[in-house]
Amino acid sequence: MLQFIKKTFIHETFESVTFWGVLFFCFMASIASAIFTAMEDLGKVAAIYTAFITFYFVILAIVAQMTKKHQACYSAMCFALNTLILPPMFFICGGLNSGMPFYCITSLLITSLISNFRTRVIMAIYSLILYTSILFYDWYNPELSPPLEPFDTILDQVVSFVFMALLIFTTVSYLLKAYHLERQKKDEVIAKLDYLSTHDPLTGLYNRRIFIERIRNQVLSSPAGYYLLMFDIDYFKQINDTYGHLFGDQVLESIGQLAKNICNREGEMAVRYGGEEFILLICEDNYTSALAKAEDFRKRVSAIKFEDQPNVSINISGGFIDCYNPNFSNYDKILTVVDERLYTAKSNGRNQIIGKY
Ligand code: GH3
Ligand code: MG
Ligand code: MG
Repeated sequence: MLQFIKKTFIHETFESVTFWGVLFFCFMASIASAIFTAMEDLGKVAAIYTAFITFYFVILAIVAQMTKKHQACYSAMCFALNTLILPPMFFICGGLNSGMPFYCITSLLITSLISNFRTRVIMAIYSLILYTSILFYDWYNPELSPPLEPFDTILDQVVSFVFMALLIFTTVSYLLKAYHLERQKKDEVIAKLDYLSTHDPLTGLYNRRIFIERIRNQVLSSPAGYYLLMFDIDYFKQINDTYGHLFGDQVLESIGQLAKNICNREGEMAVRYGGEEFILLICEDNYTSALAKAEDFRKRVSAIKFEDQPNVSINISGGFIDCYNPNFSNYDKILTVVDERLYTAKSNGRNQIIGKY
């Protein structure tokens, strides 16, 4: 039973939680009516009517469990609550002088939880008209509701108020919690999607898409202090062919990690541009120190040691540019020049960086 309640209220959808919660409330109300009918000796008709309503809720529970159409069953339950239960109970339990008006308000709260907008609005209008009519009708026909002793009146009103206030509080608290959980889940998914759309899954570096965006939106509008190193691993195909692709991936990951560590200043960015081509967006005060940083990176790559293949060393060749150059007015020009310099580094014998003024 505990397991069922836990499953119903924690893991299920909003529709099923509201359905089972309100069904429990209605079922309790019908049991209370049965006891009241028996105690007050209201006659055969009342007893049959109460049994019919209890039976109706049992059937509804079975249908909901079998079909999982909680939304439709919830609407059917609201209809029964607003039509078959509360109106007769209103008169039997003392009408305007009792706590019944509180139940009418709560029934509208329950109605407002119907998921389907059209059904919700229709049911709300129906309930409003019905309860307004009942309130007036009871006022014009006081003989319909048995008069209560003065103390019973206030007692009934206070008990109904407390009961209904707790129900409203619990429902709104649950809704708020469900809303926050939903939002939290959504935020997590958005953050994950955002990461996936801007990062390379193997190395964890930024991808080409976000790099292009960054160059166009930020670097080109204020290029002073930005430098680019585009580099490519030397003879990487040979490494793959000799030691296997898994080892090749390990090489890419290690270089990615080093690139991330190097680009640690604000505004800097390490990017996996293509298969084994990377870009470092470097922020430095001047050309010399930026080029020194790029050279330091190249040397560190050559010094990487791999546990699986201790004799392997990796080299890179790179093209380097200062973004603060009137000739580099757009993304294509920047990339063309840096790529030309990378090509020159390759044709000059590799394992070097070319960065002309
Ligand atoms: P060069 O010095 O002229 O750059 O020679 P290279 O062998 O590095 O250049 P080439 O373009 O011929 O080879 C690049 C190789 O990179 C080919 C491709 O299989 C490999 N590669 C690209 N992406 C990945 C990857 O994600 N994992 C692995 N293991 N290899 C990759
Ligand atoms: Mg290569
Ligand atoms: Mg290449």
